[in-house]
Amino acid sequence: MTRRIDLIGVPLDENSSYLRGAAAGPAAIAEALRCDSANLWTETGFDLEPVLREQGDLSLSKGEAAMAAIEVAAQAAGESVNLPIFLGGDHSVTYPLARGLRRAAGDFAILHFDAHPDCYEDFDDNRFSHASPFARIMEEGLCTRLVSVGIRTATGHQREQRARFGIEWLEMRDRGRWPRLSFDGPVYVSLDLDVLDPAFAPGVSHHEPGGMSTREVLDVIQGIDAPVIGADVVELNPSRDRDGVTAMTAAKLVREIAGVMLAAS
Ligand code: MN
Ligand code: MN
Repeated sequence: MTRRIDLIGVPLDENSSYLRGAAAGPAAIAEALRCDSANLWTETGFDLEPVLREQGDLSLSKGEAAMAAIEVAAQAAGESVNLPIFLGGDHSVTYPLARGLRRAAGDFAILHFDAHPDCYEDFDDNRFSHASPFARIMEEGLCTRLVSVGIRTATGHQREQRARFGIEWLEMRDRGRWPRLSFDGPVYVSLDLDVLDPAFAPGVSHHEPGGMSTREVLDVIQGIDAPVIGADVVELNPSRDRDGVTAMTAAKLVREIAGVMLAAS
């Protein structure tokens, strides 16, 4: 049986430290996926037309109630026979997503793409900031391993957090010397679009030059050597986009993540 893939919008941007706007991300990615300029085949040979199920956006309130609702939705997704790709939203959503999925699906590693380590103990006095999800995830032991790819903004504090939690970083300044990644169990992919250079993806809240190309991100995704049990694609801010190119890029990444999921299912 071919497993289906559920696209679930998580329209929350209240934990974004610099700009609002990512709450409109899920609708923009869904629209780009259906754009007549492209098709729904993956590069790896899967037709997603009969596979992708657009579940629309979660209905979210604010604060802890919103985080709890995201966690409940993630647990339900993890208990489903289908595989979830969550569309953000700011990156704070990954903490409740990981909590819910862990409860439903057991152990997994996280492959995290981002310009930023997102492991601040707190940011602007907000422990649920989009700059802190991986501090919460590591404190609670929600993943067996965290690999953060594309890092280029680390502060001293975040370097201490990396050592404290045993996080693995593939930093941009070392790009020519990255090892080939290998995982020995299920993987969850968390993809912050600002891992891409702003030249490729201007529609994000934090422009951080010196990033990955779209092709380089696709190479890492297509090279995942273990089952992908879930994913999120976060931080699209349509108000910062230029002619929708970042939404189209996000849609492309969603398609190829779906292709990796299907290859192992
Ligand atoms: Mn980021
Ligand atoms: Mn992030």
